[in-house]
Amino acid sequence: YYEQMQQSERLKTTGQLTAAVAHEIRNPLTVVKGFLQFYEKDQSLNNETKKNFTLMIDELKTAEHVISQFLMIAKPDKDKKMERVDVKAALQSITDLLKSYGIIHDNSIELSVEENCYIAVHLIEFKQLMINFIKNAIEASDKGDSVIVKAERKKGYVEMKIMDQGCGMSEEEVKSLGTPFYSLKSKGTGLGLMICFNIVEKYNGTIHFTSSKGEGTMVTIKFPLDKQ
Ligand code: ADP
Ligand code: MG
Repeated sequence: YYEQMQQSERLKTTGQLTAAVAHEIRNPLTVVKGFLQFYEKDQSLNNETKKNFTLMIDELKTAEHVISQFLMIAKPDKDKKMERVDVKAALQSITDLLKSYGIIHDNSIELSVEENCYIAVHLIEFKQLMINFIKNAIEASDKGDSVIVKAERKKGYVEMKIMDQGCGMSEEEVKSLGTPFYSLKSKGTGLGLMICFNIVEKYNGTIHFTSSKGEGTMVTIKFPLDKQ
């Protein structure tokens, strides 16, 4: 088993720099997309041209999506207050959400969450974090395999684990996790984990990967326990 503790320090500066660039790119993209959507409606277009317009618009939407993900890291909502989040309830609503989008099915996820796991976070960020990990686990898995999501209350922290029996990763691959645009998927953005590292660091948590090529992956996330 290959193990790697991630330090996300290097991601901080990368994130800030890219955010500035992302901002400058998003506006022209939106303008071009708007014009294309306008011309796409032209009744005199033949089918072939119409198809090309749809393709161009879809590509721009993808680019916008990537940029929005970046901006989410760079411009966290500072005004919003942190909440006392019940991990059990949050994980339940995340899995319901993923089910409703057809991303996971009834048999593909096993939730095993203790009561009394409370953390102080922005709920939206916590959801984004867990959705990214669970989606990655599902995408790495074969059809029908289950993903196990666990949460336990430990001394001073809450420990969450996402375990899959999917493709796994080599030591080199684990080391690359969190690098912007690092993705082995044909349609991946390689931004999901970069966002995850940023979120976890913000709340003084940790992420730890244990993976073995061909056998599966276990992600362990620790967050300080919100006592009270
Ligand atoms: P994306 O999912 O868009 O590719 P991520 O940042 O979420 O980007 O993940 C980066 C890469 O890390 C993935 O492309 C995949 O190769 C690898 N990865 C992440 N989670 C897992 C997992 N549970 N099992 C195997 N590989 C994984
Ligand atoms: Mg992903």
